Amino acid sequence: MVKVTILGAGITGMAIASQLPRDYEVTIVARNLPGDPDSTEWASPWAGAVFMGMDGSNLREQRMQLDAFASRWKIALNNPESSVRRVEMHDLMDFTPLEKVWYRDHLPGFHILSKDELPAGAPFGMAYQTIVLNPGVFLPWMRARLEKTGVKFLRMTVQSLSNLCGLGHDYLINAAGIGPRYLRNVMDQKVQEVRGQTILVKSDFDKIWIRRGKDYTYALGRQDGTTVLGGIKQFDNKVTSVDGELRNDIFRRIHENLPEAFPSADPLAFTVLRDIVGIRPQREGGLRIEKEILDGQKVVHAYGVAGGGYIFSWGLAREVCHLVEQFHFTSSNTFEPLVAVVKL
Ligand SMILES: Cc1cc2nc3c(=O)[nH]c(=O)nc-3n(C[C@H](O)[C@H](O)[C@H](O)COP(=O)(O)OP(=O)(O)OC[C@H]3O[C@@H](n4cnc5c(N)ncnc54)[C@H](O)[C@@H]3O)c2cc1C
Repeated sequence: MVKVTILGAGITGMAIASQLPRDYEVTIVARNLPGDPDSTEWASPWAGAVFMGMDGSNLREQRMQLDAFASRWKIALNNPESSVRRVEMHDLMDFTPLEKVWYRDHLPGFHILSKDELPAGAPFGMAYQTIVLNPGVFLPWMRARLEKTGVKFLRMTVQSLSNLCGLGHDYLINAAGIGPRYLRNVMDQKVQEVRGQTILVKSDFDKIWIRRGKDYTYALGRQDGTTVLGGIKQFDNKVTSVDGELRNDIFRRIHENLPEAFPSADPLAFTVLRDIVGIRPQREGGLRIEKEILDGQKVVHAYGVAGGGYIFSWGLAREVCHLVEQFHFTSSNTFEPLVAVVKL
């Protein structure tokens, strides 16, 4: 029996667990687990959790994103209890021209927005169908699905990947979000903490609306009577308290861009359900999906997803599975391809 340990119970670790063959013995080890009380120690619970193509992606990253999109599209159709929903997206770009939008021919219903669908001063926008989910529902749903297929969850905080040697696995997957910056035998200083702040409000806003460019402003209608308003990317900032000035600025930007849906910039005009702060696990130079033998353990690294853990999810997971497969092939000398029967 092949034994795999995954360090990390966020979207990345769980997506990987879902794509490993059913006959593998898989244990997810993490400090923070789905269903825990709120904690800013990890990113996955705080995501707006929408799909949008990530700017500047290379071909490998593009393939992973589209792969993940197709998988989540199926979950939206087959498992509405997961909170995954299909939804209309308005995606506005201040500086990127259409020719540079790599996903322009790949998403359902793709078309260019007319001038009267854009706020004043916005040069260009696109519409298409996308996917949104609510992490508060989705993460425990996914954990329960994995547990049904035999995946075990174990709470443990480690200082180094070497602390996990005693678990007796054949392969260790490092999907620890920000963790690799601090794990003693990884210490990847390219991992950066990128602060986000959003506001969850009561609202029937029925689409995903994002403007990227001068500012980073969005309203994510979750199809459940709530909308996430944002946003911001603050590099090398891990302050977890709410910034009041930034909060007011988000309300102002939302009102300026979407005056019909949000007719006032006054914070008191919104029904605020909660303020959210989360730290994205970014990596200078992009994702690290790579295998390595580290202190005697066969490790596959899977981190650096930045603001795209949900965007990469299943696509990234399949890349990781290929690396596990390569390890297995070279160590056993018998080629046993990973079977297509996966856990989710
Ligand atoms: C405001 C905001 C909005 C966002 N919106 C989106 C969006 O719309 N779409 C999208 O795709 N992404 C979005 N993101 C980004 C997304 O949240 C992250 O990319 C994703 O959650 C990262 O998942 P992960 O599993 O890699 O890491 P995490 O969720 O951080 O999980 C890391 C795991 O590793 C464990 N761990 C770490 N160190 C240790 C250790 N030393 N010992 C034991 N366990 C350890 C943790 O306990 C946790 O289980 C957003 C983020 C923020 C903050």
